[in-house]
Formats: sequence, C-alpha cells, structure tokens
Amino acid sequence: MTEPAARAIAVVSVHASPLSDLGRGENGGMNLGVLRLCEGLAERGVPTDVFVRRDDPDLPAERQIAPGSRLILLDVGPPQPVPKDAVIQMLDGFADAVLERAAREERIYRLVHAHYWLSGLVARRLRDGLGTPWVQSFHSLARMRAAAGLPFDFQRGAIEEELAGQADRIVAMSRAEGRALLRLYRARSERICVAEPGVDLESARPADIAAVRRKLGLQGRRMILFAGRLEPLKGAETLVEAIRQVASDPDLADTVCVLIGDDSGDGARSGDGGERRRLEGLVASAGISDRVRFLGAIPHTALAPYYALADVCVVPSRVETFGLVALEAQAQGTPVVAARVGGLPEVVADGETGHLIDGHDPSDYAAAIAALLHDDDARRRMGDAARRRAATFGWDRMVDRILSIYNRVSSPEIPLELPCGYEVSLGSLG
Ligand code: UDP
Repeated sequence: MTEPAARAIAVVSVHASPLSDLGRGENGGMNLGVLRLCEGLAERGVPTDVFVRRDDPDLPAERQIAPGSRLILLDVGPPQPVPKDAVIQMLDGFADAVLERAAREERIYRLVHAHYWLSGLVARRLRDGLGTPWVQSFHSLARMRAAAGLPFDFQRGAIEEELAGQADRIVAMSRAEGRALLRLYRARSERICVAEPGVDLESARPADIAAVRRKLGLQGRRMILFAGRLEPLKGAETLVEAIRQVASDPDLADTVCVLIGDDSGDGARSGDGGERRRLEGLVASAGISDRVRFLGAIPHTALAPYYALADVCVVPSRVETFGLVALEAQAQGTPVVAARVGGLPEVVADGETGHLIDGHDPSDYAAAIAALLHDDDARRRMGDAARRRAATFGWDRMVDRILSIYNRVSSPEIPLELPCGYEVSLGSLG
C-alpha cells in the first residue's frame, strides 16, 4: 500500500509564493493559480510541498497552505526580493536544497510540477534527482510577449523552448497559450494539455458595494475599473487616454476611473520612478486628475465589491496568457472591454459579455466604453451574460484536469505519447 507521503506532489514556484499578496511585485494570477491548485488537491487528498525561495527573513521556514499542503521557504540567496535575472544564478542551489530536504525527510514524491520557466530549470534537475515525472506550467511565454511587440528576452525564449521539448507534460492556461507552444516553441501537441483557471470571488454583498461606493465618493457616478499589476504590458496607458476622451463627452462627465494594483518588477523599472508614477504623470498632463483614482494593491478577497460596483472593467493588455481580471469582473456581472489578445477572447464573448478590441488605439476603447456607459439596457444584458459565462469556469475543473494529468503522467503503464484528453492541436485551434 502506498504511504500518503509517497503520493505528494513537489510543486516548484521559485519566485512566486501562493501565499503572497496579489497585485504588486510579480504577484498575480500565477500565485493565485498555485494556491487554488494546492487547496483543491488537498481537498482531494493529494498532499503537496510547495518550494519557494525565502525573500523575507521574517517569514517562518514553513507554513501551511491547506491540510496536507506545505509551503517550504528555502534559504537560497539573500532573504530579500531579487530581480528575476539574479534568481537564475540561484537555481542550481535551489534544486540542491530541494533534494537535500527530500533526502532528510525521506520524502518520496510522485511528480514535480513547475510554475514558470525559472522553476522549470529546477524541475528538470529534480526529475533526474528525484526520479519522478515533470509537469511544466509556463504562465507566460517570452515569445508570446515578443509577438505582441514587447521587448524580447532571447535567452528566456530559448530556455522555454528547451523546457517545452523536455517536460513530460505541459499544462497551458488557455488555448492561446497552447497555440503559442505549438507554433512558437514547436512543442509536441500530445504533450500539451489545457486547464483554464477559475474564479472564486463570492458575489459581492450589497452592503459591501455600498461601503466601497461611499468610501470612493462615487454616489451617482459611473465607474470604470482597471485591476492588475502595473507594468507597461498591462496597457493602462491606453486606458488613461481613452478616459480623457470619454470624460470629454458632457453626458459622461461624471465618470470616474479606478485603477487597482501596484508596480510589478517590470513596472518599477518603467519611466522615471515606476509605472504608477508614470501613469499619474500622464493623468495629470491629460488634465483628468479629478477623474482617475489610483488605489494601490487591494487584497484579492476584498476585490469583489469593486468589480460589482464598476459599470465596465477594462483590460487593455498587450499580452495576456489567460486574463483572470476579465473573468473575475464578469463573475460580478460587469461587462468587460478587453484587447483581443492571448486568452482574453476565450474569457470575453465579444458582443455578448463585453467587447474585444483589435489593436491598442485609445479611441477604439473610448468608443466601446462610452457605448456601454450610454446604454443601461445593453450593460445590464451583457452583465447578466457575463455572470453566466464566468460560471462556466471553475477552479474545481482546473484542479480535476490537472489531477487527471498527474494520474496519467505518473502511471508508467500509460505511454506519454497518449494524449491527456485536454490536448490542443494546430487543427483544432485554427
Ligand atoms: N489582484 C489582486 N489585487 C490587486 C490586483 C490584482 O488580488 O490589487 C489579482 C486579480 O484579482 C487576479 C490576479 O491578481 O486574480 C491577476 O491575474 P491576471 O491573470 O489578470 O494577470 P497576471 O497578474 O497573471 O498577469
């Protein structure tokens, strides 16, 4: 009989802790996805050890994520946040620390699941060191970013291609990511499975919505919402210019735009003093400081009333592997105006739950936002459809899919060449 410890999954997430606050630094959808995966596996009786690098000396060496799910902070490199380029130098030490820990605890893992390319480099060593299969999730891909016109990290792209070719299975977050893996990385389609993330925010309570409305002084005013880590790829600059145009419509003069989130690592390097400072400068020069509020990062569990209060949520990203914010807004019955990039067309049904915009011309965003703000009926109709659509995504589905991938990959009698059932092919993806 297998001991419970023998069934544990080693989750490698070197720089993204599932227990960190979202919306600032590098912390966003990936952290939340790892958290929900571990919680869901715990509910299904599958233990996990999540290995992250300690970046804060005050945190305990071990924390509990859920019953049977441990967060293990490894002392590799200085106990403070370091740029991702510096993390790459620490990956061999990180893999050694995982192996040393596993040996000391006599822990036998069933497989390794790595999140992000940096963790993939660790998992590749662990596959040999632990003698387990290796499942890889990328969450974002350098060549997808480059294809969207963002600066190209050549080294990262080359390493991702190697990892995509070597991992036993790849879990993509959207069909768009699956397509990118096929086309830009020449990954083998039978190794790629798609498991979309979900949404977990309870419907906002009317009392909480009213409290946020009061706090922001929005009584009788319309609200446009943006949420996400602040960095150029999230496209908030496009939104600022769109708001300037919307605000020039006398019928929409009461509109307020609320931006939630703080500078990410890339955001901190943007402009002179970071992305938030840069955006605040743009807002001031556009003469719309009274229309735009920067609220900073807000805890994930407190976001629902902001989404519910919004008349429109705008996601003008240059690239988006999935687009959780668009899903979360829809779950609160708020239509979304989003860029037609990455996974967003899988999240937002164009013309039904919001509008998808080709390109990043602020006038196109302004027109779509204004049309929605002018038409209460359309907004209500789309909001209802948005809520229904969001209900079709769920963390349980993601966890079940990933668990079935684990089951296949860790059953030697099932050949790896056999598709996992959620695979993508160029044919089916067009
Ligand atoms: N988020 C948050 N607080 C903030 C800003 C963002 O909790 O202040 C969360 C947001 O609710 C979402 C995640 O961070 O769950 C962002 O995920 P998304 O897929 O939109 O973007 P990513 O950060 O993965 O690029």
